[in-house]
Amino acid sequence: MVKAYAAKSETSGLAEHPIERRQLRDDDVAIEIDYCGVCHTDIHYVEIVWGVSVYPVVPGHEIIGRVTEVGAKVTAYKPGDTVGVGCLVDSCRDCSACHDGLEQYCLNGMVPTYNGEDLHDGSVTYGGYSEGIVVSDRFVVKVPESLDPAKAAPLLCAGITTYSPLRHYGVKKGDKVGVIGMGGLGHMGVKFAKALGAEVTIFTRSESKVKEAKKQGADHVVISTDEQQMQDVAESFDFMLDTVPVKHDLNPYLNCLKYDGTHIIVGLLESVEPPLEAGALVLKRRVIAGSLIGGLPETQEMLDFCGEHGIHCDVEMLDIENINEAYERMKKGDVKYRFVIDMNSLKKK
Ligand code: ZN
Ligand code: ZN
Repeated sequence: MVKAYAAKSETSGLAEHPIERRQLRDDDVAIEIDYCGVCHTDIHYVEIVWGVSVYPVVPGHEIIGRVTEVGAKVTAYKPGDTVGVGCLVDSCRDCSACHDGLEQYCLNGMVPTYNGEDLHDGSVTYGGYSEGIVVSDRFVVKVPESLDPAKAAPLLCAGITTYSPLRHYGVKKGDKVGVIGMGGLGHMGVKFAKALGAEVTIFTRSESKVKEAKKQGADHVVISTDEQQMQDVAESFDFMLDTVPVKHDLNPYLNCLKYDGTHIIVGLLESVEPPLEAGALVLKRRVIAGSLIGGLPETQEMLDFCGEHGIHCDVEMLDIENINEAYERMKKGDVKYRFVIDMNSLKKK
C-alpha cells in the first residue's frame, strides 16, 4: 500500500486514502513521486463535471519523481533517475497513431494516468497525488538535469499541450503568434512561442493582466473586449493559440488571422457559440485546428527543449493537506500559474 489523496464522492473533497500499486511487470518503472502539478482536469474528475469519474479518484497527471526500481526488461532507466509521467500511462502500442509516437490519439483509446482502465488487469488507474506510481517505461520521460523538478512538473500537461501544436503547425522565427487567455496554458504558450522566435501578443479581457502579460515576455497585449484594439490587429497573425476552456466567440479572433492563418484550440471541448462565420475561413483560406497534449517522443523533446532554453512553469508550491482550498482558489483563477504539490508533505504524514 502507498499513501495517496483521493476523492470518494463528488462532494467529499480530497482526503488521505491508501491505494495499492501493482507488482512490477518486465517493462515497468517504479517511481517515488516528489512533485505533482494540479491541473483543472483534476477538479473536473474530483467533482464529476464530465460525468465519467469512477470513485475513489486519485488525480494528478503532472508527475515528477525518482526511479526506485525497474522491471527485468527495462534498460532506459535506473534507480535514482529523475523522471516524469504525464497524462497517459498506456495505449494499444499497435495502431498507426501508436507507431507514429502519437499515443494520445491511439485508435483503440489511450489509458489516462488516472480514472483510466489498465489494459492488463482492468483495474482503475490512480494518479500522482500519491507517494509512488508504477508505469511502463514507454510512458516515462527523462527530466534534464538543468530543470528544477518542482517547476518542471506542469510541463507534463500544461507544457506539452501548448508546445505540441506550436511545433506541429510550424511556428518559426518571425511569425506573429497570438495567445488567447493567460492561465497555466497561456503563460506556457507565450514562453514557447518566444523561444521559437515568434513575436507574441497576449489577448486578454482584463486590463489588470497587461502588466503581468508583459512580465511573461509578451511583446504586445490586446484587450479583446476593446473593438478598436481588435480592429487594429485585424489580418495580422500567422497563428492564434486559443487556451480558453469555456465557450467563447471565435469570430473576432478569426478576423485577426492573416490569410492562411491557423487558429489552434487547446482548451475547449464544447460546441462553439455563437456559430462560426464560415466566410471568415473561406475568404482568407484560414484554418481552425485542435490539439491534445502530445505523444511520448514529443513530450521528451519538449522537456529537452525546456532544459536547453531554461523554460519552467511559474508555480506556487502546496502541501497536500491544503489541496481542497487550492481547488477553490483555482476556480476563481487565483493562482500564478500552477499549483504544485510537494509530495514530502504526504510522505511525512
Ligand atoms: Zn492536465
Ligand atoms: Zn494505439
